[in-house]
Amino acid sequence: MSTPRRAVVVGGEVVAPGVRRVRLRVLDAERVGHRAGQYILLHARAADGSIVKRAYSIASPPRDDPSFEVCVRRIPERPASGFVHAVAPGTEVSFTGPWGKFVVEDATRDLVLVATGTGISCTGAILEDELERPRSRRVRLLWGLRHESDVHGLPRFRELMRIHSRFSYAITLSRPGPGWRGARGRVTAALRAEAQPDGLYYLAGNGAMIADAEDALASAGVPATSIRKEIFFTPGQVRVPLRERQARTANRERPGRAIVGIALHAGASALEVVKAIEEALALTGLQSTDVRNIAAAAKASDESGLVEAAATLGLPVEYYLPSELEAAAASASACETLARVSAASTLLILPKHKTPAVTVAVAAVDGGETP
Ligand SMILES: Cc1cc2nc3c(=O)[nH]c(=O)nc-3n(C[C@H](O)[C@H](O)[C@H](O)COP(=O)(O)OP(=O)(O)OC[C@H]3O[C@@H](n4cnc5c(N)ncnc54)[C@H](O)[C@@H]3O)c2cc1C
Repeated sequence: MSTPRRAVVVGGEVVAPGVRRVRLRVLDAERVGHRAGQYILLHARAADGSIVKRAYSIASPPRDDPSFEVCVRRIPERPASGFVHAVAPGTEVSFTGPWGKFVVEDATRDLVLVATGTGISCTGAILEDELERPRSRRVRLLWGLRHESDVHGLPRFRELMRIHSRFSYAITLSRPGPGWRGARGRVTAALRAEAQPDGLYYLAGNGAMIADAEDALASAGVPATSIRKEIFFTPGQVRVPLRERQARTANRERPGRAIVGIALHAGASALEVVKAIEEALALTGLQSTDVRNIAAAAKASDESGLVEAAATLGLPVEYYLPSELEAAAASASACETLARVSAASTLLILPKHKTPAVTVAVAAVDGGETP
């Protein structure tokens, strides 16, 4: 349902490094009312007070009570997952949902659940729900993680396997220690080895794994109609906040044929920043009026020296997340990468110019001509 609903946090525990399982209780109904595999859209409060809406799969099967769980990986310095990791018992939260079509309709075909990381939330809920039903089909869980320490909930899987002979699981680690006796590598290699054309496949987690799994399943003759996907994220994909996106769009309308990329030490003064930019511009023969905008790393956004310097020069600053810079990070230095990414250009007018606390590079807008 799209009307915001209310729930209260009743508990939470860190189940693996960077992964927290949080228990909530709905306040507006007798139960959350989901089908196993569905998600909620949580209205999370970011550190700056703004509300961000993010999807979280319900990690518990449907129950006859108001409680439900989510299982969330913390992404360093990111708003919603940071909120879920910090939220204290007793806090009220809003959400909408349940949403989603990652639910099992078929009751007979063998079911294969494939998850990476926190993809275990919705696949785990489906597993619990399925095994509560008096069915005879086989259920297989393939779960891919990095390290031994990332594995959680193992006692429960062992218990389910002991109770239900139709259930089995395999955990694959991509970076196991020498003592790991299970499968190594990618979970999709395990899937490739055992895929059968007549199975039903539920894939959840990392988008790259899901693309790879679809490929493996197609090679095994599994029709696309037998595959359901829940893509949590695609590596390298970044959610740039709306305000930053709007500011960037406005900058594209500004005059100016050059972008100043800047990297600075924490605490660098406005004077140092202005001096470094002016030196760099002097070396290129450009004026500050030739500059469309400055580009800096997101982590520099609370550097008052940069903010003041930009105001002094009358230039806006664009802030970039690390993942936005990855593709262009071939440049040896951060300021060069920042200038080139903001300019959408490979053409550097001035490579890294270094002063004690600030480095500056200048790129030509849209690969425009050097002066
Ligand atoms: C249908 C659906 C269900 C989801 N269910 C869950 C869930 O049960 N548990 C969960 O932890 N997340 C889940 N997610 C991801 C979640 O919605 C957020 O994207 C995530 O928590 C990051 O939000 P953020 O605001 O902290 O960071 P953002 O700024 O939104 O994202 C920062 C970066 O984190 C990456 N990222 C997002 N999720 C993950 C992840 N799980 N592991 C590694 N990197 C990630 C993104 O690609 C992006 O580059 C789900 C997503 C969808 C679409």
